Amino acid sequence: QIPEMPLTPFVLRKAQELATKPALIDGPTGRTLTYGQLAGAIRLVASSLHKRGFGKGDVFAIYSPNLPEYAIAFHAVASLGGIVTTANPLYTAAELAHQLKDANAKYLLTIPLFLENAKEAAAEAGIEEIFVFGEAEGATPFASLLQGDGVVPEVEINPREDVVALPYSSGTTGLPKGVMLTHYNLVSNICQTEGIEVIRDTDVLVGVLPFYHIYGMMVILNASLYHGATVVTMPRFDLEMFLELIQKYKISRMHLVPPILLALAKHPMVDKYDLSSVRMIISGAAPLGEELATAVRERLGCLVKQGYGMTETSPVTHVNPDDPDKIKVASVGPLVPNTEARIVDPATGQDLGPNERGELWVRGPQVMKGYLNRPDATTQTIDSEGWLHTGDVAYVDEDGYFYVVDRVKELIKYKGYQVAPAELEAVLLSHPAVADAAVIPVPDEEAGEIPKAFIVKKADVTAEEIMAYVAKHVAPYKKVREVEFVESIPKSPSGKILRRVLVEQERMKREQ
Ligand code: ATP
Ligand code: MG
Repeated sequence: QIPEMPLTPFVLRKAQELATKPALIDGPTGRTLTYGQLAGAIRLVASSLHKRGFGKGDVFAIYSPNLPEYAIAFHAVASLGGIVTTANPLYTAAELAHQLKDANAKYLLTIPLFLENAKEAAAEAGIEEIFVFGEAEGATPFASLLQGDGVVPEVEINPREDVVALPYSSGTTGLPKGVMLTHYNLVSNICQTEGIEVIRDTDVLVGVLPFYHIYGMMVILNASLYHGATVVTMPRFDLEMFLELIQKYKISRMHLVPPILLALAKHPMVDKYDLSSVRMIISGAAPLGEELATAVRERLGCLVKQGYGMTETSPVTHVNPDDPDKIKVASVGPLVPNTEARIVDPATGQDLGPNERGELWVRGPQVMKGYLNRPDATTQTIDSEGWLHTGDVAYVDEDGYFYVVDRVKELIKYKGYQVAPAELEAVLLSHPAVADAAVIPVPDEEAGEIPKAFIVKKADVTAEEIMAYVAKHVAPYKKVREVEFVESIPKSPSGKILRRVLVEQERMKREQ
């Protein structure tokens, strides 16, 4: 049973009971916000925004790294029936301006360090007032909003219709799209995962993934608040600080992305810290190889499991249970309750059986209302029966566990075969001399496309050795046929390998 209610009271259901308990702690400084302070600040800020004329349906943009106060701004806006659009803190002024204009944002909140970009973008988008966490010239301190009278108007919110969050998809395959998520979408998804992801109010989580992205925003921030847990926030990923905070705050559960698991598996620094408080690591947002998962599990002595989702699905549609006997580590898990899935042959539109690979379609109450300003993209993605076509290739085993192979768009077409770059990346990462890897298609006269690997070395190794190693592990048609050694692999803050960046670089090189 999913309650028909607005997001904020739903998420803050325990705020009174846990008034003196830390809800959020700023990792670097230790500054703490208790549940009571959080709820109080949300009311004060909401009343101030209301006085300024901000109301239902208005859009408020947050362009900030993770801080405890992020949650105050988010819920002050949500409780007024407003819409929060969250921007990637790494955005340039032009990228930010694009989102602000697309979203029609009325206000912008940032930090002093980003003010220059924020001002430039705000000017272009016609935003008059910028708020900052802290103080800076030409911006209103966010703290001044705490001087409100705390009287929040009664707003009528229709949970199924009214949009509360407008995150943008990661832009891995193209330009990011604004994803309209309603109160009901987000409330549903917290309900759908609560019986599976067992978060207790004694848990301490780490808010290391960015809150602007749906994974940080919902799975870490809002789900943790809903369960009355404590979230230690980090403004950016820094391995040393991350390890220190795990040790200091005895972090018990961590939601991570594969690049962080890679560091946990391979970096020598990891052994210097006591990480024994960690019971469970959940990985999502990008493919995780079984060997990498196992390496982390063995090194930290904790459970590792995967989940799957998209910005468009609030985000979770699949997740492994917490029960160690029920985790299949190579799988993204079974469907969450109230969610249906199909595996469809893209060529024929026919449903496929167990262990057959096809496009994953999903349907459920967490599926977005649509893309903002993109009716064409919306109807291409959600069909007339409500099925969301994920664009991912997947299969399901006899037990109902799903396996995500890769994106349909990113499969390499070698002769008549399809090769999943993610599978080759997982093999490459299992090589002891490989610190990081990415695989892309490059054009080939004879084969159409061949897989090329980009490798960050950890120890001495040759291209021939790498190719021979892969050849030993995969079917002949999947072999890596070209290797280039690089300093780093381009990745998004949401943990995805930016293969299109490598494809573009490669294209330019070949045209020269
Ligand atoms: P865009 O849609 O703008 O190109 P994006 O799809 O990367 O960007 P997100 O909504 O952040 O934007 O990511 C959703 C995608 O992440 C999924 O469609 C899938 O490709 C990938 N993904 C999520 N979880 C997993 C997982 N556990 N294993 C493999 N891939 C995953
Ligand atoms: Mg996508």
